[in-house]
Amino acid sequence: MSATLSFRWLGVAGIELMLGEHILLIDPFLTRPPLHYLRFGRPVPDAPRIVRHVPRCDYILVSHAHYDHLMDVPVLLRQNPQAIACGSPNACRLLEVAGIPEHQRRVIEAHELLTLSPFAVRVLCGTHVNLPPGFRFAGRLPDKLRYPLRLSDYRMDECFAFYLEAGDYRLLYGEAPQPADVLFTAPLRLSAEMLKVICPRLIIPIHWDRFFRPLDKPIRPLPGLPRYTNSLEKFRQMAETTLPGVRVWMPRLFERCKLTAMLLDVHLSS
Ligand SMILES: [Zn+2]
Repeated sequence: MSATLSFRWLGVAGIELMLGEHILLIDPFLTRPPLHYLRFGRPVPDAPRIVRHVPRCDYILVSHAHYDHLMDVPVLLRQNPQAIACGSPNACRLLEVAGIPEHQRRVIEAHELLTLSPFAVRVLCGTHVNLPPGFRFAGRLPDKLRYPLRLSDYRMDECFAFYLEAGDYRLLYGEAPQPADVLFTAPLRLSAEMLKVICPRLIIPIHWDRFFRPLDKPIRPLPGLPRYTNSLEKFRQMAETTLPGVRVWMPRLFERCKLTAMLLDVHLSS
């Protein structure tokens, strides 16, 4: 019998997958610096909070180098010196600037297969929302970098999605034409056409909450989505019309969900 697979949503795009005793994180981000840091200052990751909520990990996948996916990774790698993070050249360079040793960072590229035992991962090309014009959040990294970084130093080069085989399940993180059982996705980016190709049985919407709002305040949807509840309901309807029988599960922060033959069993948060 395969080991139990469970997941926790860490807020924003962060997911923790646990298979047996092995823990793989994707885009963990708990610091949530206030909005003014987009223009000024150098926020420091909130290490006590990160370690309290995510005490242990073996692997970290970074979908892209933006701060809301990468800035807390150095804390987790320092806390777990056996753990390794996999990301784009920009992501790994920024980890280097944060003082992470070479053996804890691995540059990956699309179509690569990663054996992160017991997880098997295929790196796929992902999609990213269009950035507002004038935002310096993509392209070449600045020549001079010092830690702690400015939020505008976290520049995206590649954007990945991840396909994972874990125990009895096929998981897809992001939006890519890859069939899977369970899909973690930013719902408003997903078209019916793409959903038909992925054909998941379970969809977990992520990256819909306001990520400059502290974690000790109630979760709120992104400000650009004033009628988000309505939008999410529309997404649910689209998904259920496109794939009759699909389940759309709104995750609750840090709540452990165990995947079973029925696909989902919610357990108390840890
Ligand atoms: Zn981004």
